[in-house]
Amino acid sequence: SREWHLAHRPHGEPVPGDFRMETVQVPAPVTGEVLVRNTFLSVDPYMRGRMNDVPSYVSPFQLDQPLTGGALGEVIASEYDGLAVGDLVLHEYGWREYASGPGTRFRRVTPVPGVSPSAHLGVLGMIGLTAYAGLLDVARMQPGEIVFVSGAAGAVGSMVGQIAKLKGASRVIGSAGSKAKVDLLVSKFGYDAAFNYHDGSVNRQLRAAAPDGIDVYFDNVGGDHLEAAIFAFRTFGRAAICGAISSYNSTEPPSAPRNLSLIIGKGVSLTGFLVNHHRNRAAAAAAEIGGWLTSGKLVYQETVVDGVENTPAAFLDMLRGANIGKMVVAL
Ligand code: NDP
Repeated sequence: SREWHLAHRPHGEPVPGDFRMETVQVPAPVTGEVLVRNTFLSVDPYMRGRMNDVPSYVSPFQLDQPLTGGALGEVIASEYDGLAVGDLVLHEYGWREYASGPGTRFRRVTPVPGVSPSAHLGVLGMIGLTAYAGLLDVARMQPGEIVFVSGAAGAVGSMVGQIAKLKGASRVIGSAGSKAKVDLLVSKFGYDAAFNYHDGSVNRQLRAAAPDGIDVYFDNVGGDHLEAAIFAFRTFGRAAICGAISSYNSTEPPSAPRNLSLIIGKGVSLTGFLVNHHRNRAAAAAAEIGGWLTSGKLVYQETVVDGVENTPAAFLDMLRGANIGKMVVAL
């Protein structure tokens, strides 16, 4: 079985040489264990943080050890009563062709007709829950409100805008890093307005797109996007601080937002959250999102890269914005 190890801790933007592919023997499952052939691997922004040797909410990757993370596969041998050969399972064993371990570390998921199984790594899984809980529970978006989403064409962002509209937002504005993405936000993902943050000041572009200000900001990016949102907030605005990808490769602390004190007078709240804090909403999110998907009210796009050998490249491309929607690797 081929698997990816962390060879070096990246300094700034990771490079292909930071990763090394190893071929290992996969042990046959013993009592209580299963063997899984992976079909899809997830590449996620938070994995960049795990490549640094710093304490965080998830432990850092170890050098010369496999890169663990979200993956989906099919059980091909089972010595565990709870899972049978052929079951589709999610797990956290990460970037490898085969995974084996205690059956309790694998969670069976039900295939949804007409939807790629990879959606369990995205809209039907962690990504969908992040968008749903972040917008509705953390930012507490109400019908009629004006919503701004950064990273809007990515996995989480492309869901947030659509959920906002489905839940009655009066206007949804998105930012993304290319003209093609900006066009898609409006033509496909239900955004009312969108801009390319490379085209000039985020603050100026947001003001033009939201002349009446914003009530909710779903922050995937941090930095100058958060600063612009703080300027644009109306009284009692709320931000769900989901991610800060603009600084994940930085070797210096971020210089923005510089206007934090404005949240006092506006009564604005900025609330950080982790999807894991909202596990109790997983069933509600899956049910509502599943319904929207099957009725065609919610569109889901992913960027699929083929081959385990291309996993680090897919990860690097995702960090650079090559993806639209969720980036996954198909094996
Ligand atoms: P995406 O699918 O959005 O992929 C990352 C995107 O980030 C790229 O496509 C790129 O799009 C954008 N990006 C990269 N660099 C920059 C930059 N300097 N400034 C602005 N945008 C940039 O990833 P996810 O949807 O999986 O994750 C989105 C965010 O949500 C991340 O910050 C992630 O850490 C966070 N997250 C947090 C969770 C939580 O529990 N709190 C759970 C899941 C995700 P572009 O072309 O537009 O630049």
